Amino acid sequence: AKQCGRSGFSYFTRNMSERAEQRLAMEHALRRGIRNGELFLVYQPKFRLPAGTLIGTEALVRWRQPDGTVMMPEQFIPLAEETGLITQIDTWVMLEACRQVRLWEDENKSPVPVSVNVSLARLDMERLPQSVSAALQTTGIPASMLEIEFTESQMFAQQDQARTLLAKLKALGVGLAVDDFGTGYSSLNYLAHYEFDTIKIDRAFVSNLPSNPKHKAIVQAIIGIAHALGYGLIAEGVETLEEANVLLDFGCRDMQGYYFSHPLPAETCATLMDGRPLL
Ligand code: C2E
Ligand code: CA
Ligand code: CA
Ligand code: CA
Repeated sequence: AKQCGRSGFSYFTRNMSERAEQRLAMEHALRRGIRNGELFLVYQPKFRLPAGTLIGTEALVRWRQPDGTVMMPEQFIPLAEETGLITQIDTWVMLEACRQVRLWEDENKSPVPVSVNVSLARLDMERLPQSVSAALQTTGIPASMLEIEFTESQMFAQQDQARTLLAKLKALGVGLAVDDFGTGYSSLNYLAHYEFDTIKIDRAFVSNLPSNPKHKAIVQAIIGIAHALGYGLIAEGVETLEEANVLLDFGCRDMQGYYFSHPLPAETCATLMDGRPLL
């Protein structure tokens, strides 16, 4: 084996253990944060064009630390996935999102379905239907008001298990969407083997759509597949009017993205449900 110089070696190990310590500290902080109610949700509206009707919202998790710092999911979801804390997070998000729909309902808004992200990296997927039905029962909202967005997974290697799981969820009546379609594992294989309701076109293909012929071709193909298979379709990450127009032109009417709205606090999101304009 190759020998490191003494100083090189100690530099290496110090870095490694520093990183491990940092990770451990963050894991503890996250564990504590979940327990102490430091997680909260924002809701990004989804619209149907050309009328611009509000058709749903996506619940996105944030972590406000005791010092006020707000952490974005990319900063803690990967760690949560590695440590198994993701199960607790996703279970909490599901319940909280359903509670919010209930609250909107109780405030006489006209709530639209809420979508939650479920990480397929969690190891105890078989418990998912249980936490879904618990959230529905606790809050009393109809299953049609909840949609689950699935992203890439190791789990989908075990096809039989996955099929059983998705069938159970479908039987509960919740909507099932393939998130980030066209990237990672979220591929054609999903559609060939599982029963989803909706395909969500990944932001990567939506960005600069008007000026990228390859992205145009890919998006058109995805839209064609969705129509042929009878799936619902939504594009994420729409940032410009030009992107929206190309999508609409191609036959994709449902959209989500900064052009229409950033993720919003629940109270702000509720103003869209009244049909009142934002601000
Ligand atoms: P995602 O499910 O693809 O969610 C969309 C992300 O894109 C959100 O970032 C959203 O704020 C952002 N976004 C929306 N519109 C635009 C746009 O027009 N342009 C750009 N550049 N970005 C846009 P966020 O909230 O930081 O979430 C990042 C990812 O973290 C999500 O990606 C999702 O995979 C994961 N995530 C968020 N909340 C949860 C959760 O509760 N559970 C799990 N397991 N994962 C979550
Ligand atoms: Ca999503
Ligand atoms: Ca997505
Ligand atoms: Ca994405």
